[in-house]
Amino acid sequence: MRLILLGAPGAGKGTQAVVLAQALGVPHISTGDIFRANIKNNTPLGIKAKEYIDKGALVPDEVTIDIVRDRLKQPDCSKGFILDGFPRTIPQAEYLEDVLKGIGTTVDHVIDINVPDEVIIKRLSGRRVCSSCSATYHNVNNPTKEEGICDACKAPTIQREDDREETIVKRLSTYHEQTEPLIEYYKGKGKLLTIDGTGTIEDGTKKLLKSLDVK
Ligand code: AMP
Repeated sequence: MRLILLGAPGAGKGTQAVVLAQALGVPHISTGDIFRANIKNNTPLGIKAKEYIDKGALVPDEVTIDIVRDRLKQPDCSKGFILDGFPRTIPQAEYLEDVLKGIGTTVDHVIDINVPDEVIIKRLSGRRVCSSCSATYHNVNNPTKEEGICDACKAPTIQREDDREETIVKRLSTYHEQTEPLIEYYKGKGKLLTIDGTGTIEDGTKKLLKSLDVK
């Protein structure tokens, strides 16, 4: 199964991608996670990406496309994949189509997780992530058992730099301008499924699995 998860930042793409990847037995590919790992290790890619990420802007297509091309070449992607946070622009989507066409395949479904801006702002400003394993929590909706400590690996949780309120507003406007047009793009190709992402994480997972007809 080759899937794309679309949706605004904070719609729940990352959280749902982890669950779906396990249910479907395919890798979860998050361009945001790849950038953050590079930032943490201070690589040239990380230094470049950080300039854009901290401003709530998108990393340029030519940088992002190279990363995805390399990742999709890995053997674990032969069975399928879940793309979380890619594509985010029409040129990225066109590029992905070309790459997949080159290996005789295509994306099966694109799922748009729909959540209004006011809910997104509440979600992102309360989001906390593990500084070590990247597990995601929320102050109110999904708190850690022990405050500030990751349930999974016991490392401290932190607020992502780009989850500060002023950056959230910028990221949302970047989303509406550059990423939202992908909804019409994939609708036109007959690939789009839409789910309401305003409920709980469990609700979202149920809707996703149902929309994909996965038991
Ligand atoms: P995410 O974790 O998916 O919200 O991504 C965090 C940030 O990484 C985004 O706000 C962008 O700055 C950057 N980023 C992630 N994926 C992409 C992409 N496909 N194209 C451009 N920038 C991206």
